[in-house]
Amino acid sequence: MEKPGEIPYVAAMQTESAALMPIPGHIDPVPVPRARVARPDGRIDLLGLSKLELRMALETSQLEPKQAKLRAKQLFHWIYNRGVTDFSLMTDISKTMQPWLANRFVISRPQVVEAQVSTDGTRKWLLRSPDGQDYEMVFIPDADRGTLCVSSQVGCTLNCRFCHTGTMRLVRNLEPSEIVGQVMLARDALGEWPSQPEGRMLTNIVMMGMGEPLYNFDNVRDALKLVMDGDGLALSKRRITLSTSGVVPMMARAGEEIGVNLAVSLHAITKEVRDEIVPLNRKYGIEELLQACADYPGANNARRITFEYVMLKDKNDSDEDARELVRLLKLYDLPAKVNLIPFNPWPGAPYECSTPERIRAFSNIIFEAGISAPTRTPRGRDIDAACGQLKTAAEKKSRAELDRQAEEKLAALG
Ligand code: SAH
Ligand code: SF4
Repeated sequence: MEKPGEIPYVAAMQTESAALMPIPGHIDPVPVPRARVARPDGRIDLLGLSKLELRMALETSQLEPKQAKLRAKQLFHWIYNRGVTDFSLMTDISKTMQPWLANRFVISRPQVVEAQVSTDGTRKWLLRSPDGQDYEMVFIPDADRGTLCVSSQVGCTLNCRFCHTGTMRLVRNLEPSEIVGQVMLARDALGEWPSQPEGRMLTNIVMMGMGEPLYNFDNVRDALKLVMDGDGLALSKRRITLSTSGVVPMMARAGEEIGVNLAVSLHAITKEVRDEIVPLNRKYGIEELLQACADYPGANNARRITFEYVMLKDKNDSDEDARELVRLLKLYDLPAKVNLIPFNPWPGAPYECSTPERIRAFSNIIFEAGISAPTRTPRGRDIDAACGQLKTAAEKKSRAELDRQAEEKLAALG
């Protein structure tokens, strides 16, 4: 089933950008296409559609063009600004038009399979798509802000060695409706409609959930455009951060076409170590990556690029590593801040977290060079909601993993 009003050139563009971006051989599993599941009632879901797509959906249902344009504008506001899912509550749409819409369309939400709350207030939702794929989103409340960590894929195209999501075998790109749907669901759960910039718990969005957002570029862009639209969810691009493990060819486009803050998962400063822990480095090396950061449109001293650095014991956490990191950031003249992430463990992970003293020493060296380097406090570890812990149980496990788990269980039994 095609999306209503999907214009052919959009489909053509998607094919072209996918062709520009071959999945790097042995590094990546190939994303599986979405199994499109038609709604049993035959109605069309409006969630995730832009103003233009809403208009085309209405025109396809035989509404005359002028009417369609007006109604699309009204629907856009009700859907994305007011969070309304029931057409009978749309008070500026006539009483005869409301059932006409309800007979043809729905405004859905992702299905919630499980909602958990951590002792530190972090909340995690397990969501399920109509074709039975599971993905997660996490809400992290702080005193002065609330951050929603949004997923872009089921699993991940890549497989960084320290990341639990990277061990998932099945990969599917999330649709714009599934990405923006996470934000809508969070607003529902927090009771924060209408969406407005001030006085809300959900103030920031980070594309740091499951998946590599730049391997799902078109859908992430389309979803974030909905999130940023002033007539809808209206979140400022300054409050949205996209994190990439370093998909260099897509970084300039991300700056130009999305324009949000950039975070880069650097994690190591030698080819040897980065090749090991972020295998994508074998395709796009550190120099290339840092040059792409230097060229990132919109980066300046007021809008710095965040370099994420996971602290792995005896792997990437020495004083020399810290000094080399500083040297590289200065060499490329990068408006940078560094975010040190204590490694979050998961069963069978091949690394350990650096000691707190080591992390402090590492951080001090960077601070002394005039670059901010705070340590991220792990949040939601007790419900596996912290960075790199997301992984849904539904995916098939590899033979090796099953064997390893069996061994662990035997060892635990003594
Ligand atoms: N795929 C994107 C965004 C999602 S991951 C990326 O890699 O940038 C968000 C951040 O958590 C990344 O910096 C990632 O490297 C880091 N991360 C992954 N696994 C982790 C773990 N086990 N402990 C701490 N941080 C981890
Ligand atoms: Fe994917 Fe990011 Fe995890 Fe790497 S760290 S496997 S890119 S989600």
